[in-house]
Amino acid sequence: MRDQYDVVVVGGGPAGTTASGLLSKWGRRVLLLEKEKFPRYHIGESLVPGVMPVIEDLGATQILEELGAIRKYGISLLWGDNPEPWTVRFDEVCPFPYTYEVKRAEFDNLLLAHTRRLGTTVIEEANVREALFEGDRCTGVRYSHSDDVIDVHAPFIIDASGQAKIMARRFDAVGWHSDLKNLAAWTYFQGGSRYDGQAAGNIVLENRPPGWLWLIPFSDRTCSVGFVAPSTEFTASGLKPADVLYQRLDEALEVKRLLAGAVEVSQVRTAKDWSYTCERMSGPGFIQAGDAAAFIDPLFSTGVMLAMRSASAAARAVNNILDEPDSEASIRQSYEDGYRAFLDVVISFVRFFYDPSKKVVEYFEKARELVDPMEQLKAREDFIILISGLVATHPIMDYVPKAPVTASSSS
Ligand SMILES: Cc1cc2nc3c(=O)[nH]c(=O)nc-3n(C[C@H](O)[C@H](O)[C@H](O)COP(=O)(O)OP(=O)(O)OC[C@H]3O[C@@H](n4cnc5c(N)ncnc54)[C@H](O)[C@@H]3O)c2cc1C
Repeated sequence: MRDQYDVVVVGGGPAGTTASGLLSKWGRRVLLLEKEKFPRYHIGESLVPGVMPVIEDLGATQILEELGAIRKYGISLLWGDNPEPWTVRFDEVCPFPYTYEVKRAEFDNLLLAHTRRLGTTVIEEANVREALFEGDRCTGVRYSHSDDVIDVHAPFIIDASGQAKIMARRFDAVGWHSDLKNLAAWTYFQGGSRYDGQAAGNIVLENRPPGWLWLIPFSDRTCSVGFVAPSTEFTASGLKPADVLYQRLDEALEVKRLLAGAVEVSQVRTAKDWSYTCERMSGPGFIQAGDAAAFIDPLFSTGVMLAMRSASAAARAVNNILDEPDSEASIRQSYEDGYRAFLDVVISFVRFFYDPSKKVVEYFEKARELVDPMEQLKAREDFIILISGLVATHPIMDYVPKAPVTASSSS
C-alpha cells in the first residue's frame, strides 16, 4: 500500500494518539497501528499539568473532564530534612491549576477514540514486526493482523511503541542511565483515608531509602501504591518484590497512615524501571516520541507528559517535513536538540532529588538553578514549574503553540 497515508504511527499510547490526533486534525492522512485491543492496562497513572496544553490542542479537554477522574491540584511529599509532610499546589504559579489521576486503561482508550474521531485510521491488534527500509530511509512497516502479514508504506513513520522502542532497538541506540536502574513493585487498595478538600487528589511521595513509595488516589476510592528502588535492593533483600513492597509499607509513615483500614484489591505487579535516553531519536523517514525516545524514572510522574509533549513536537516536525521535504534533516535535528534539552533538565533534577538528605529549600534552589537562573520567580515557584513539566527550555518543547509552526519559526 503506497500513498494511502501520509504518516504511519506505531503504538496507541499517549504519544501515539497525540501525534496521530494532531496530524489528523491538521488534515494529514494517518494510520495508527496498536498491538493490543483497548482498553488495556498500563502503569503511569498520575499526570502533571504539562499534559494539559496538549490535551487542549487535541480538543479533548471536555471529554477528559467527563471521564470523572479525580483532580490533582498538587503533590504532597515526605522528603528531605522536614519531618512533616509538605505540599505544593500547582496554582501557586502554573497557568493550569490542576490535572488528573487517571486509570490508564480509561485514559488511553479515551485518547484512542478521540484520535479516531479526528480522522486517524486505527487498527488494533496490529503487531508491528519490523520497520521497512529502502537504503537508509524508512519507508514503512510490516505488521501482523489476524493471520495476515501486511506491508504498509508512507512518507513518514512515527515510532510511539513505548518501551518496545522498535527503532532504537533496531539501531542498538538505547543509552541506559546506569545510576537509575530501578525496579518498581505496586498494587491497589480500596478505602483508607484522604487529605481534606482539593488535596484529596494529591499524589503522595514518601522517601524510604534507598527508594521511595507512591500513593495515587482515584475517584472510586481505590488507590495505586508502589515502591521504587534500585534493582539491586530487591535482589539483595532475598525477598520476593511483593514482600519488599509490603515490608516498606509497614515501615512507612504517611503512606501507612493513609492506608489504615484499606484492603488490597489486586495482585502485586512489577516492572523494570531503568531510565534511558536514545542516542538517536530520528532518522531518514522516521522519528521517535514518548518512551520510544526516552524514559525517565517516574519520581515526578513525568512519563505521560513527556510522551504527549514530545509527540506534539514530533507531529509538528513531521507536518513541516511533509511540506518541506528538503528541510527534513534540519527539522529532525531541531526536534532532537529541543527534546534532549528538555530531558536533560528533568533528569538532572530527578538525580538531585533522589538524595533525600537535603533541606527542602535546597530542592527549590536546585530547580531555580536549572530553570530560572535570572531568578525571575521564587525558588519554590521554579520547583513547581519544573515538576509540572511546564519549563520552557527550547521553542520545540514550548507549550504555547496551538497550530503547526513552520520550520523557520521552530528552529
Ligand atoms: C513503575 C512506573 C510508574 C510510572 N508512573 C507514572 C506516573 O505516575 N505518571 C506518568 O506520567 N508516567 C508514569 N510512568 C511512565 C509511563 O508509564 C510512560 O512514560 C508512558 O506510558 C509513555 O507513553 P507512550 O505512549 O510513550 O508509551 P505506552 O503508553 O507504553 O504506549 C505504547 C503503545 O505501543 C504499543 N506497542 C508496543 N509495541 C508495538 C508493536 N510492535 N506494534 C504495535 N503497537 C505496539 C503498546 O501496546 C502500547 O499501547 C511510570 C512508569 C513506570 C515503569
